[in-house]
Amino acid sequence: MRIRTVKAIYPRWNRPLSDAWQSHFWQIVVVVTTECGRTGYGYGGGGEPAVQVVNSHLSRFLTGRTLEGVDDIRAAWQALYRASLPYGRGGLAMMALSGVDLALWDLLGRARNQPVCELLGGGREPGVRAYASGLAFETYRDMGFEAVKVFHHWREPADYDRTEVLIARAREVMGTEALVMLDCYMSWNAETAVEMRKRLAPYNVYWFEDILTPDHKRELAKLKPQLAPVLSAGGEHEFTLDGYRALAKANSLDIWQPDVTWCGGLTGALDILALAKNSGIPVCLHRGGEPWGLHLIAGSDCLALAELVGPDRQDGTVQVWEGFPRLTDGRLHIADRPGFGVEPDPALPA
Ligand SMILES: [Mg+2]
Repeated sequence: MRIRTVKAIYPRWNRPLSDAWQSHFWQIVVVVTTECGRTGYGYGGGGEPAVQVVNSHLSRFLTGRTLEGVDDIRAAWQALYRASLPYGRGGLAMMALSGVDLALWDLLGRARNQPVCELLGGGREPGVRAYASGLAFETYRDMGFEAVKVFHHWREPADYDRTEVLIARAREVMGTEALVMLDCYMSWNAETAVEMRKRLAPYNVYWFEDILTPDHKRELAKLKPQLAPVLSAGGEHEFTLDGYRALAKANSLDIWQPDVTWCGGLTGALDILALAKNSGIPVCLHRGGEPWGLHLIAGSDCLALAELVGPDRQDGTVQVWEGFPRLTDGRLHIADRPGFGVEPDPALPA
């Protein structure tokens, strides 16, 4: 099949405007059409700048290109990577490229009438255990979750006590068997991390996430053994195989967390997974409970633990897409539909 058009759209997100980057550069939808009348849908990051990257630059390298198999997607990825290299390689441009890549995988799945996880050699059964990221522990427990990730942002020494109260409550509500993780979104330093490790020892926290910034790889490597048995997780701010090579070389994390809609799409994520396997490092996808991550989990040897951010509230994601996987008994099941199995809401402005 030959590609006819590639178009990115920025949905009108109902996020309150704040200083946080997500309220400016959140997820984009990419639509690819073919001359034979097929359509593929992808999901990337980067907001309006990423829409600009796709519509005014990347799209021209895809129009007229033929797509028959995975090798053609890889070739397209390389063409887009090279074209955007001077301003890209990571950040908003790679978030844009990720959306395009996922639309191509969706297109291939639809053309072959196969879910993407099957294109990857995986199956759809059984369901993948999900974890909820947020603070509404009672609601998550009642929804059937058996794993939770607590968000916290360090500001002042009183946060030691506040965080301990929060983690103690998560453990109490979720029960002794549940997985409890803690994401401090790069707000700690080494001293804070070691003290938190000590304070939170009674609560059996599975991992600390995003402890330092991605540019503190050496410091993270030094810190990691001091936090054991708590694992050090991160990687959502890292892009492509090259970014993860640097992580591997520094040996700075116990668990890698690429985001398939940011790190270079499924093509980029597969390269990262191969490196992870070689390096003996487990991968637990960032936002892996959304269809794009879930298909990769089902079709690979990623940790079968799928993140749903704020599943108790409506951030707009599910209104933008129809056909999200259903949560049953804390597990997510991939639907028997081709591609990633989702369609944008018809009300999405074209
Ligand atoms: Mg995180």
